[in-house]
Amino acid sequence: MTRHYDYLAIGAGSGGIASANRAAIRGAKAAVIEAKAVGGTCVNVGCVPKKVMWYGAHIAEAIKYSPAYGFDLQQQGFDWATLVRNREAYIERIHGAYQRGFASNGVDLIEGFATFVDKNTVEVNGERITADHITIAVGGRPSRPDIPGAELGIDSDGFFALTEQPKKAVVVGAGYIAVEIAGVLHALGSDTHLLVRKDRPLRNFDADITDALLERMKQDELQLHTHTEVSKIEASSDGRLTVYLTDGGMLLNVDCLIWAIGREPATDAIQLEVAGVSTDAHGYIRTDAFQNTNVPGIYAVGDITGEAQLTPVAVKAGRMLAERLFNPAMPEAKMDYRLIPTVVFSHPPIGTIGLTEAEAKAEYGDANVKVYRSSFAAMYNAITPHRALSTFKLVCAGKEEKVVGLHGIGEGMDEVLQGFAVAMKMGATKADFDATVALHPTSAEEFVTMR
Ligand code: NDP
Repeated sequence: MTRHYDYLAIGAGSGGIASANRAAIRGAKAAVIEAKAVGGTCVNVGCVPKKVMWYGAHIAEAIKYSPAYGFDLQQQGFDWATLVRNREAYIERIHGAYQRGFASNGVDLIEGFATFVDKNTVEVNGERITADHITIAVGGRPSRPDIPGAELGIDSDGFFALTEQPKKAVVVGAGYIAVEIAGVLHALGSDTHLLVRKDRPLRNFDADITDALLERMKQDELQLHTHTEVSKIEASSDGRLTVYLTDGGMLLNVDCLIWAIGREPATDAIQLEVAGVSTDAHGYIRTDAFQNTNVPGIYAVGDITGEAQLTPVAVKAGRMLAERLFNPAMPEAKMDYRLIPTVVFSHPPIGTIGLTEAEAKAEYGDANVKVYRSSFAAMYNAITPHRALSTFKLVCAGKEEKVVGLHGIGEGMDEVLQGFAVAMKMGATKADFDATVALHPTSAEEFVTMR
């Protein structure tokens, strides 16, 4: 007999899991299908292991600063393998928590690779499973360039599989992943080279913030190569790489080259065409505001939609979809894609929400945009020889100076952002910020004391 569900999510990543759990909580018979480990990119090869590595890097930096705080430490070494082992044990515990969540909500986890048979049917391990509602939440995977020797490099998945620390690493790319991985490797002591093909990484972030990031990279001696791409990679007999650059230069004796040039959708193998689901030219499944694909009863959430590729976005979109489908009290539920806060775990972290100064000027006109900024040495670094500056910025629009953009790079910015995101979601103006009593001494207080 064919198994039948009210709700079936393909892909047990952030979006698939959240939507299936919420559907089950609302009374639907729900299942989620996964070919690899539960948790998807975020838990296994993304946010979670990245943040653990970032904390490791943070400790390395704290050790560097510790003499100024009176410590006389002798570092005996750093064991990459221990960090990786503890990280993976933590991920195992998260897998367990997901399994318990499925069990308590009554969601079936079906292990295997799903392909569409028709719009209501998928095949997994030779078994046909039908559902009234099917959500595609299969996420993405790292892209690779088409150059000679590209296969000698690894990608972010490969980075998380490294069991030894590379002595010399080259990170290629200019987005979140490139900046985060290069920062971690550098702070942990690898000789790290970040290669970007234009003038800077994170080009679409507010320029004041990336200016500060560049300054900090220079101060920390992370080797940034701009206006260059990799033309060819060769391996020598000892396994180390020679990386040839388009500017004529080359990098010798590289232990590890990491491609971080973007991600692509993983839609190619699930036989979408059989179900009639269309994709854009890049393979992303574009949806309407309610996560509907072009086929009634088939939805898409998360990275596969090409929309704000962030875990909390996938989670919220998945939950809102399940509410709309199975909660009669929320027939219009949908994810609000406006004002999504996001953090880059660089060194120090960047937090950003809303419009950059350039975007605000383009939208409201130069005369209607007022910018407030503050550059200051966070107290953490005030007594260390590394007096790194933090830069915080508010972009305000209109006569009422509504805060339409908030950006910062500095210690603690990753934790500072969330509360201000609530204020902006509520439509806060500069006057509201000014009316808020500062928390002293913190970095966050700069946001309510800017003149
Ligand atoms: P991104 O798309 O953010 O950045 C990749 C960048 O690499 C491109 O924008 C481009 O920048 C550059 N690039 C593209 N092709 C090449 C090439 N052939 N050679 C050199 N550089 C190239 O991709 P990521 O993989 O970093 O991240 C994917 C998404 O995952 C992010 O957008 C984000 O949504 C999410 N993410 C979020 C994190 C977080 O919240 N902390 C962490 C990690 C990922 P340019 O045009 O300037 O050269």
